[in-house]
Amino acid sequence: METAIYILVGLIMLGVLYFAWWKVIQPYRKFQGKMLITCPETHQPAGVAVDAKHAALTAVQGEPDLRLKECTRWPERQNCDQACLAQIESSPQNCLVRAMLSNWYKGRSCVFCGKTFPHIDSYDHRAVFWYEQKPAFVNPEGKLVEWREVPVETLPQVLTTHQPVCWNCLIAMVFRRDHPELVLDRPGKRSH
Ligand SMILES: [Zn+2]
Repeated sequence: METAIYILVGLIMLGVLYFAWWKVIQPYRKFQGKMLITCPETHQPAGVAVDAKHAALTAVQGEPDLRLKECTRWPERQNCDQACLAQIESSPQNCLVRAMLSNWYKGRSCVFCGKTFPHIDSYDHRAVFWYEQKPAFVNPEGKLVEWREVPVETLPQVLTTHQPVCWNCLIAMVFRRDHPELVLDRPGKRSH
């Protein structure tokens, strides 16, 4: 009898977890993160973020209710009708900045060390970690540009004019830039 109760409780817990995954966590991941849309008012790119928590909680009852929690055109246009949500609704994956970066880095090589970037699925948990590592670029003038210096709305432009830099090279270059007194350049191996 006791075993039957344990099995029943286990099955109920599995059901709850399955429900939570499909109904709450999936919608949350789908809409969480910075997004790039074309502002219907200006026809220019703008950076936005959806209230992913609200989307996930409303998804429990059916369709997720989308609303913005930030936009690069705020606070001036804070009271707009958020018509850009239609773009996000029809294809959230295409608007997600982390997915855009993932696609852009895929198959490219670091401009300094030549290492090829691995393909990372933007829905994979590692992508979040990778994204946290903040990829970098070199601009056409050869200057290192860190991700946090790139306004989201300029991303389409940046991705056409800049070159990719891997995390390891970024760290090494930032260290060299900020602590030149600590960097000891070793002479390279000489061939005989
Ligand atoms: Zn590199």
